[in-house]
Amino acid sequence: MIISSAKPFEEVLELLKDEDDIFIIGCSACAAKLHVGGEPEVLNMRQRLEEAGKHVVGWCIPSAACSVASFDSLMEKNPAIKDAKTVLVMACGSGVSIVSQIVELAVYPSNNTESLGGRSQGEIIPELCAMCGDCKVYYFGGICPKGQCPKQLLNGPCGGSIEGKCEVDPEKDCVWELIYSRLEKIGRLDLLEKVWTCEEVTG
Ligand code: SF4
Ligand code: SF4
Repeated sequence: MIISSAKPFEEVLELLKDEDDIFIIGCSACAAKLHVGGEPEVLNMRQRLEEAGKHVVGWCIPSAACSVASFDSLMEKNPAIKDAKTVLVMACGSGVSIVSQIVELAVYPSNNTESLGGRSQGEIIPELCAMCGDCKVYYFGGICPKGQCPKQLLNGPCGGSIEGKCEVDPEKDCVWELIYSRLEKIGRLDLLEKVWTCEEVTG
């Protein structure tokens, strides 16, 4: 799941200050689950833009803003877009980029894209994977220090943890405590014997 958060409405309005005839595109995937691009948020955005004097020509919520196939496919289901001069995308940066590739209009983001995270047991977990392109997460019991340790320590922990909490962010558990517990649980503490070299760390 791509984690994104809503920009303050005032910032969106500032982005759109010279624009009008706006078509809003939400996203049924990550942004909807995070409540920053589903139907309630899109309708709320339409109302606030109209209250601010903007003309909203229409809106749609594709299954995923980052997978819109073509302008024609968008147009087929949402003919109102032909009257638009501007598009506002309520999704992550991938969604904004894909929409920008298929529509010949100015495209603006309403969200800030933050990280690659997920949702488990109803809880949103904002940072899970740093998308390093060389996945080694198995060695850490499925808990990635590149994504979840603020110092990205593969030969952790750093020694600054206090009562199991991270010294950089005391609100969070030290990820190395979690890695140790997980490896202990699955009987693979032996994986901690591996010392990662600089090449492997930066790999
Ligand atoms: S090693 Fe970590 S940062 Fe790299 S791809 Fe795997 S989970 Fe993501
Ligand atoms: S306390 Fe743990 S999670 Fe925090 S920076 Fe140190 S090793 Fe990383």
